Amino acid sequence: MSDTRIVVPIMAPTPKAMAALVEKALGAGAEAIELRVDALTSLAGRAVETLAAQTRQKAGPSRPVVVTCRDHREGGVLDHPLAARIEAWVSAIRAGSDYIDVELENFRLVQVSRPVREALAQAPQARLILSSHSMTGPFAGLQWRYDQTVAAYPAAVPKLIYTANHINDCFDALDLLRRARQDTITFCMGPAGWITRLLAKKLGGLFTYGSLESAAATAPGQIPIDQMKGLYRSDAIDGDTEFFGLIGDPVGHSMGPVVHNACFGQLNMNRVYLPLWVAGGPEELFAFLDAVRARAWLDFRGFSVTLPHKTSVLEYARVNGGTVEGLAARIGAVNTLLLDRQGGIKAFNTDYVGAMEAILSTLKIGRGDLKGRPVAVVGAGGVARAIVAGLCDAGARVTIYNRTVSKARALAGEFGCTHAALDELANVKAGLLVNCTNMGMHPEVDATPVPAEVLRPDMAVFDTVYNPAQTQLLRLAAQKGATCIDGVAMFVNQARAQFRLFTGEEADTALMRQVVARGLEGA
Ligand code: NAP
Repeated sequence: MSDTRIVVPIMAPTPKAMAALVEKALGAGAEAIELRVDALTSLAGRAVETLAAQTRQKAGPSRPVVVTCRDHREGGVLDHPLAARIEAWVSAIRAGSDYIDVELENFRLVQVSRPVREALAQAPQARLILSSHSMTGPFAGLQWRYDQTVAAYPAAVPKLIYTANHINDCFDALDLLRRARQDTITFCMGPAGWITRLLAKKLGGLFTYGSLESAAATAPGQIPIDQMKGLYRSDAIDGDTEFFGLIGDPVGHSMGPVVHNACFGQLNMNRVYLPLWVAGGPEELFAFLDAVRARAWLDFRGFSVTLPHKTSVLEYARVNGGTVEGLAARIGAVNTLLLDRQGGIKAFNTDYVGAMEAILSTLKIGRGDLKGRPVAVVGAGGVARAIVAGLCDAGARVTIYNRTVSKARALAGEFGCTHAALDELANVKAGLLVNCTNMGMHPEVDATPVPAEVLRPDMAVFDTVYNPAQTQLLRLAAQKGATCIDGVAMFVNQARAQFRLFTGEEADTALMRQVVARGLEGA
């Protein structure tokens, strides 16, 4: 089995437009080109032959050329007659293409298999990819279909692509790739399946597919090649790569991949961090973690955990005999999970230390200086829990203000502090105010939970929201002359603590800050 190549599929209505995209894809680092000639408005054998021959020449000897004329039923762009499609495949082989991709269902027809077999016999360089696509969900019998494909033409590369409706649908494809003893292509379509496009590199799939840019994706869930190579360090992925990731729902806008992958890269580590979209509740989360732990060969070693799974992960660690750090148990939430090679679990919470470090370093005080200080915490959700725990541990006099007063009361009761309704913020006297609500977060950037009149020059204001870094609350606080602490400081601190747990090494904080700032600019 060979090193996995990233194929960039090319689709356009004319050969000229396709040729221009081929140039662009080769410039962007495509490791192979797929000409999706089903997108041509006029499908003529001669035009396909010329396009394939030109592409073969441009790609050079190290970058294979695949010609595909996908059936409309399996995701093809236009519904070309079968006779025209057969002519396209045969012309592509004649033009020197390295692979042609034919659907298994069509190859079973004698009028397809006979001319294709004959053309292949005349062109020793060309290989057949026999593909099947399930557009709406997993195949009923993936292994059965794989065996059928091998039986239909043993020298072909079996290609089985299906839509994952949940991340837990991905494991069948990964298992198949792991078992395969010959060149095989399998991965999942759809946003829930996209991790398989990167994990295919670890498991030695023949090809994985990336788009030129998001808008040019030829299948749902395709990752732009610059992201695959840049953000997700696909060039570094091999059989020994260890994986980390963010478990949550949603995960799309997290800065976790940006900071951890930048630091893995800087330290030349064979590690990659992925967003892991685990939709649903505890049942789906537990199934995901069970599946990962049952597959030590995937080398998942650690996770960041975000909404809505921070509490359920703690429960998972407990019921599976894991170790839960005392602090995480006290907070009642976990944001970092480590797995060892035997599936053993350790759970931590680094939000606490991230927030406390941000407060202490900005105010240039020690933990002991918080003793007896009045602090207003706005919000009573997950982040508020970690921050209230930290502040109470340090002896601060905390009052929790929350929209839903019952939640403020419950949290205050747990940590022995006081609570109030949100509108009572008008009378706040505390010298430190911490926003732990979502208010002010992108895209509601003009929102603030605290009225401007409440803010004073002798106050320190800490906003845990980090997208944007300069929130409306911090803008107003700065105008009043208050000391400001932004959410990026907390994010970077908690990520640095996580990185230490993941790797035992120190991350470069300046690099983390820099990539988060760049990432937020582009968000
Ligand atoms: P959460 O558990 O869902 O809690 C959300 C809190 O915000 C609740 O107290 C909720 O009040 C309140 N809230 C939401 N919308 C509101 C509104 N329109 N008006 C008033 N209150 C509102 O969320 P979380 O995990 O604690 O996250 C909260 C924030 O922390 C997020 O914005 C996130 O950006 C930030 N965060 C920052 C970091 C970092 O490293 N900087 C890390 C994690 C999270 P109710 O109880 O009344 O619903």
